[in-house]
Amino acid sequence: MAKLTGIQVYKLLPKTNCGECNFPTCMAFAMQVAAKKVALEACPYASEEAKRELAESAAPPMRTVTIGAGPGALQIGGETVLFRHEEKFHRPAALGIRIRDTEDVAAQIDLIGQLKFIRSGKPVRADLIALEQAGEIGSFVGAAKLIREKAELPAVLMTADPAALEGALQVLADRRPVVYAADKGNLQPFAQLCAKYKVPLAVKGANLEELADLTAKVKQSGVEDIILAPVIKNAAQGLTCLTQLRRLALEKTYRPLGYPVLVQTAAEDPVQETLQAVMYACKYASILIMRGKEAWQILPVLTARFNIFTDPQVPNAVDAKLYKVGEPGPDSPVIVTTNFALTYFTVEGEVENSKVPAYITVVETNGLGVLNSYADDKLTGTTIAKAVKSTGVMSQVRHNKVIIPGLVAVLKGELEDESGCEVVVGPEEAAGIPNFLRTEWKAQASR
Ligand code: SF4
Repeated sequence: MAKLTGIQVYKLLPKTNCGECNFPTCMAFAMQVAAKKVALEACPYASEEAKRELAESAAPPMRTVTIGAGPGALQIGGETVLFRHEEKFHRPAALGIRIRDTEDVAAQIDLIGQLKFIRSGKPVRADLIALEQAGEIGSFVGAAKLIREKAELPAVLMTADPAALEGALQVLADRRPVVYAADKGNLQPFAQLCAKYKVPLAVKGANLEELADLTAKVKQSGVEDIILAPVIKNAAQGLTCLTQLRRLALEKTYRPLGYPVLVQTAAEDPVQETLQAVMYACKYASILIMRGKEAWQILPVLTARFNIFTDPQVPNAVDAKLYKVGEPGPDSPVIVTTNFALTYFTVEGEVENSKVPAYITVVETNGLGVLNSYADDKLTGTTIAKAVKSTGVMSQVRHNKVIIPGLVAVLKGELEDESGCEVVVGPEEAAGIPNFLRTEWKAQASR
């Protein structure tokens, strides 16, 4: 239900104009309630129906659903905007990896547990184990037991069989798995089981009308944590469908579709599957399930997700301080860069590639890269000299050389005056760092 107008609130009131709410008329009171300046409870005669309708109208346009329990729990949904630049996207798409109960489930759990990476200094990983029933009930329940014993991650239970589902829920319900999926054929038993075990239910529909119809029925069964699972045949249809769902939920506040969305990749080809997954991570999956388990497939998806779910209004920055790569000693190079995270981690990665231990002095540039911070007077001879001095790095080496980015070679003279150091101009691109350190730095250091 969309936000109620003053007239709509008025229609829910007794219309007696008794004044006990401290407003002269019910209409005056209704206008203030609609503007959220006063609570409906200020009218002692407001009906339960009025309270319920107002509460529903005030609910967020997309429900937030918690999956898992304890430290591994995560939240999905609760998004508020269609485009990231309007505000930010709030809850990254949870990445699930699909396995079958007929596979070596223990080995697959180990494999998924190893899908962990570091991006811009932060850990990223697969979030869910999506267990698909391919065998008998015993096989499915046995696989659920292995997940309970061996996995840290929450599960998605993928079955169409209520008996298999109940068996798996008896094992895993307290870990709050997602149930996938209720459809026209099994809606009632699945909804009853999810209400009984208090777990989220994904609802599968062939089109938007069917999804809306099913979510209403599931809600009537007492399940509030609903996830939409549209049937997707190809990437183009998937993108269209997810965009329509997001628009209906957020722009039209259409409550029957105001839920997070689960989508599975459909492509057989691993490269195409990865491309689909990247697209869905950006627009607009809340849970994204892939078959691929190779690191080369998972890393691009996690990287795209990491980027799209950063806050565009907050600079992506690292602390301005001294960093060590490897175990630098008195003859190691001292490299200067800015505190824009992408710049820093690119430089750090290339220094690691060089196998030359080094100090990296990071200058506070409010999260700007080299050229932007130079243009904004954040990266100057004075600011670099101040950073070098405050980190005390020159007392840890027995040379007097500082390497600056080649893009700001123009700062060499000013920095030498400000710092008293000998300034060496490094490469313009971070990709040139390994060769620079292995050849030019060695030549410089020996002088
Ligand atoms: Fe109307 Fe309720 Fe206010 Fe009385 S207390 S004027 S019924 S809104």
